[in-house]
Amino acid sequence: MKCPNCSCKDIGKIGVNQYYCWNCFIELSIVNGMLSLHQVEEDGSLTSLDDLFEDQDLSFNADAQ
Ligand SMILES: [Zn+2]
Repeated sequence: MKCPNCSCKDIGKIGVNQYYCWNCFIELSIVNGMLSLHQVEEDGSLTSLDDLFEDQDLSFNADAQ
């Protein structure tokens, strides 16, 4: 898989259906086959980035891993 935000493949797995992009520092969760992107703020809170992307950018294709 690659990051829909920066298109890099430097993705680390941090949990079940949860990944982290080490290039742009966003958290990627897979929910119902769709990627959900969150930015981790300095205080540890999460800000959703989903509004910045089209559905087609967030559809998670397991075959493309
Ligand atoms: Zn990224």
